Amino acid sequence: MVLSSLLLSAGQQRPLWREVGVGLVAVDTLVHNFLLRTGILRRLGADHPYGVRCYRTGGCADILTRFAASIDARQFNPAFPQTFPRFVQNAVWRCCAAMAWTSATRSRRFARLTLESRMNSVT
Ligand SMILES: [Zn+2]
Repeated sequence: MVLSSLLLSAGQQRPLWREVGVGLVAVDTLVHNFLLRTGILRRLGADHPYGVRCYRTGGCADILTRFAASIDARQFNPAFPQTFPRFVQNAVWRCCAAMAWTSATRSRRFARLTLESRMNSVT
């Protein structure tokens, strides 16, 4: 994702760098599991384990690129290109990261309350 940000910031003097950055999609476990758990992979007949198949034809990167083709990213920022796979992938990743953080926070809160409850019952 850092490479994509670097390529996107290349400016007008290096339009090919920007073009590569726009289409660069990184699939990590958050993104793969989002597509798996939402049933998107199954619905598209693209079930696969996380790994190299995420980048093969019909894999996660391909699915995100196809999603991006159906979304006009300029509605979010007029400076964006119409088709912006990196933007779609980053939006999915941010959503998953926020949900994971929220879930982890809830788990920590639950663990703390449980520990406090146990300590109170001992004393
Ligand atoms: Zn995948």
